[in-house]
Amino acid sequence: MAESRIANFGAGPSALPESVLVEAAKGLLNFNGTGIGIAEISHRSKEFGAYIKETANLIREQLDVPSTHEVLFMQGGGTGQFSAVVLNLLARHRLLHPDLPEHDRILDYVLTGSWSKAAYTEAMRLAHGATVRIAADSRAHSADGKSFDGLPPHSGFTFSPNPALIYYCENETVSGTQFAGEEGTPTSFPFHLLPTDAGLLPLVGDYSSSFMSRPIPRLADHAIIYAGAQKNLGPAGATILIVRKDCIVDVDAAAKIGGAPVPISLAYRPYAANDSMPNTPSVLAIYISGLVLKRNKALGGVRYYEEFNRRKKEKVYEVLKEGEARGVFKSKVREGEGSWMNIVFGVLGDGAEARFLEGAELRGMKGLKGHRSVGGIRVSLYNAVTEEWTDQLVAYMRDFIAEQSE
Ligand code: PLP
Repeated sequence: MAESRIANFGAGPSALPESVLVEAAKGLLNFNGTGIGIAEISHRSKEFGAYIKETANLIREQLDVPSTHEVLFMQGGGTGQFSAVVLNLLARHRLLHPDLPEHDRILDYVLTGSWSKAAYTEAMRLAHGATVRIAADSRAHSADGKSFDGLPPHSGFTFSPNPALIYYCENETVSGTQFAGEEGTPTSFPFHLLPTDAGLLPLVGDYSSSFMSRPIPRLADHAIIYAGAQKNLGPAGATILIVRKDCIVDVDAAAKIGGAPVPISLAYRPYAANDSMPNTPSVLAIYISGLVLKRNKALGGVRYYEEFNRRKKEKVYEVLKEGEARGVFKSKVREGEGSWMNIVFGVLGDGAEARFLEGAELRGMKGLKGHRSVGGIRVSLYNAVTEEWTDQLVAYMRDFIAEQSE
């Protein structure tokens, strides 16, 4: 099987570890000795009930999720959460501050790329009289005033004193920036600037494309962390949530105070009350995510992946820099502000980008074309991307630089 598979640098859905896929193929025929395949078994079976709990626990264990937070599985992907976080946290704010005029409920958004911008746009659709504001916008700090080519400086953040929601995207999959720096450094998320006298903070982090790739800084200070499974964890279909318990509220009680009723499929409470199964969950995606998590655990969890992913990204950024010095590549992100997971750059010269992609494919490397909205090249280095694949790509990039500069 191995020889027919190629190096897949796709941005998501993306590569999964081969050993997991072999195991999953067995589970498709016979899940945990039940004689029924995982795509066929009832989610109400005791075997799947135990499995989903075990999978949630593997996440809890590997990320050190405290008992103040629940680990939940939902559906609807990251996009579903663009809506759900607004609806659930506005409901929470209404219950906490019933007498506040709706326009004084503030939703603070940090804009660093197309995904946080999409979340912001959805918040404007759903705000229902609440005020959606921009707490920072990296475009304001770019050379041309309109590109998401870096992170906002800490001096560019202003948070509201008692917001209903504070939103950021930790890793921007399309523009290739990430709050990846050590806490307190300019490329970290500025936790120290968050309001301090507002009680438990309604801080939401979109971790869709960096979940499980390294430890989550200040996880316990978040209200909600969410991620679609389809980058670092498993197949598309499962959305993982880590939700602080005070954010799991009675949305119907809140709707009596203001706002529209919340669709039941987006309300957190039924999921928390029913082991993530108020209705049929994405059984297969959760199953494969569980297999990946078991493998992660055996390897050493997020600390292992942090070092592994650090080595891979350093190799790619190094060769990218060499290419920049020779006028062959051009990074789309300011130095030091780039993502570990998605490295984006252009290839300079007429037709050079197409030649780069063709050459990569001839050498058995796929998934390198940049997102359709920004073009260029995007190298995604998720957990399942091996060091061998990375070395293969780096060697190719070096050969390409040599050829182009002849
Ligand atoms: N957030 C980020 C950072 C993403 O990369 C994506 C998709 O790639 C999304 C949100 C949207 O996720 P979904 O396609 O699961 O709705």
